[in-house]
Amino acid sequence: MMASEAEKTYALLQSCSTESLISSFGLGIFCLAADRLLQFSIIQQSDWIRALSDNAVHSVIGMWSWAIVTGVKKKTDFGEVILAGFLASVIDVDHFFLARSLSLKAALTLPQRPFLHCSTVIPIVALTLKFTVHLFKLKDSWYFLPWMLFISWTSHHIRDGIRHGLWICPFGKTSPVPFWLYVVTTSSLPHVCSFIMYLTGTRQKISSKHGLCIDV
Ligand SMILES: [Zn+2]
Repeated sequence: MMASEAEKTYALLQSCSTESLISSFGLGIFCLAADRLLQFSIIQQSDWIRALSDNAVHSVIGMWSWAIVTGVKKKTDFGEVILAGFLASVIDVDHFFLARSLSLKAALTLPQRPFLHCSTVIPIVALTLKFTVHLFKLKDSWYFLPWMLFISWTSHHIRDGIRHGLWICPFGKTSPVPFWLYVVTTSSLPHVCSFIMYLTGTRQKISSKHGLCIDV
């Protein structure tokens, strides 16, 4: 189905409301500040504090991004926001899986990057989820899940990419993502996704779930 020009304009307007633009700006500032804060010696002095705060930043970015998608001002579903934060941070457990150990030292000194950090996995898992939701005709309330996973995991990969580059297996790795590109991509990702969600009708399903009024 091709969206008409009017539908595209409508989708663009809806995905760029003033509130969501302001919260994206806030997210950009958070991205700028967070990695500065992590440099403080109180955090750097211990591997565990460093790893946990780094993971917490992933989680906050995931929650913030999803709050932008669902609409910040109106009834925000905190359960969903927390789930987005969980998805954004949980992929780091693959370090421990690959290390086959709960030792942080082992997890941080892996000979290769763990599989959930391969960016090719994101579209594969998101599309599989989308297919599953359709196949099992799950309720409308599940339509958000592939998008939430896509946003949470993509933001995690891009942030990790500042240091390690993006790993597009089996093709190899990119050079490190420039910091400015990370900030711009992370803060615009919720809008790009909202826009596509409006075009494909997914956003309307989420809106009706949240009881939002769609005003043009
Ligand atoms: Zn990671």
